[in-house]
Amino acid sequence: MVKLEEKLQHVIDERMDEFFDYLRLDSVSTQDRKIPETVQYVKQMLEKTGGEVQVLDDLGGNPVVYGYFPAGDKGNSEKTLLFYNHYDVQPEDPIDEWDSEPFVPTVREGILYCRGVADNKANLMVRLNAIEALLDSEEGLPCNVKFLIEGEEENGSPSLGAYLEKYADLFKSDACIWEFGGKDEEENYVIEAGIKGMAYFDLSVESADVDIHSSIGAVVDNAAWRLTQALASMRTADNQVLVEGFYDDITPPTDFEKEVVARKPFDAEKTQALYGLKHPLITKDLDWTPNEALAFYPTMTICGFISGYTGPGSKTVLPRAASAKLDCRIVPGQDPEKIHELIRAHLDKHGFEEVKLDLIKGQKAFRSDLTNGFVDVVVDSAQKAYGEQTEIVLSPNNAGTGPMYNFDKYLNLPVLSSGCGWANSRAHAPNESVRLKDFFEGSAHMAYLLQAFGK
Ligand SMILES: [Zn+2]
Repeated sequence: MVKLEEKLQHVIDERMDEFFDYLRLDSVSTQDRKIPETVQYVKQMLEKTGGEVQVLDDLGGNPVVYGYFPAGDKGNSEKTLLFYNHYDVQPEDPIDEWDSEPFVPTVREGILYCRGVADNKANLMVRLNAIEALLDSEEGLPCNVKFLIEGEEENGSPSLGAYLEKYADLFKSDACIWEFGGKDEEENYVIEAGIKGMAYFDLSVESADVDIHSSIGAVVDNAAWRLTQALASMRTADNQVLVEGFYDDITPPTDFEKEVVARKPFDAEKTQALYGLKHPLITKDLDWTPNEALAFYPTMTICGFISGYTGPGSKTVLPRAASAKLDCRIVPGQDPEKIHELIRAHLDKHGFEEVKLDLIKGQKAFRSDLTNGFVDVVVDSAQKAYGEQTEIVLSPNNAGTGPMYNFDKYLNLPVLSSGCGWANSRAHAPNESVRLKDFFEGSAHMAYLLQAFGK
């Protein structure tokens, strides 16, 4: 009998050309490139693997591809695993910084380079590899498998919630594997059990109809001062957010979640060096550790600020307008609309009624229940695939943001990340890559995971 690992290698080799053709499709959602072609291609890939496919496009936006693979005769038809992926990719700019053509899959020293390979096309392929190898084995598919593959992830998934709501019965599953995941700088394999949310704001002040000679600053205030003072009123220099009620709705982490976070490695010096930081980490003034800050606490960040004259030399002007971008990475329990109300109330209370505040993007956070048995299934199967020498690091939630909350809201299931990326995958940047070794081990992880899940 041929071992599963050998079957996997065979499937990987056999489907490499097909995978490369998928990578060649420049499915850039923000620029509307090759979307219909890529939808057709994904449909074919799933059908070739043996799945039933529906292309959902009745709610607008780029189509959502649904795939279904029933459990085999010896499998557990009572259990269904959902894979979430996206077929769209980021634009390839800046093109000059690529060492090979962005949309020509190129292997150099065991590393496969192409736009979209890490985010997120290889992660779809490893899942299909695993399913095909299992279908070809004596045991067959150990459980039912569904896919939700969307085409707007790189655009903030504006239509995903509507599709999940309408098709909740179709996508109904017991657990979900998220689109991304992989290894960190230390070669630890990181599994995220959740994700932070986001409240993103535009702020602006207009203080006059025209820019004014700065000598008039003797009697006239200006927009740049007003906006910097408004912003400064919201956060102290040592990173305490002063907006009343800002921290109130945070769901307190459980003891177990705290324990899991305490086990995570964090190298402050390395972080300093990585970014060339000129100041100590802000957590030095806070009552919580860097890992706790990354997982459990919301942030408030000025992402950009524009006002007045910023060219060479001097121009003595009193700017009539100022604007800023502000993001808050929020945690479970917090609501973007509520954060909006709290900041509005803060500005009004402190005499900044004229500051315009618009919530331009809101997304709630989500964290899976770490005591759910699915966590062990994902962790143990990762250990088996990546070997005893690899430390498997569980993280209650990622510090970034994604549309995970909608999966819980409409499907009510645990969601964990797992993918074949590495520390240098450079998602969204030039020379995006996946290591072929991780591609194989990632395929094995998905196969072991399906086996363990079906039990
Ligand atoms: Zn991305």
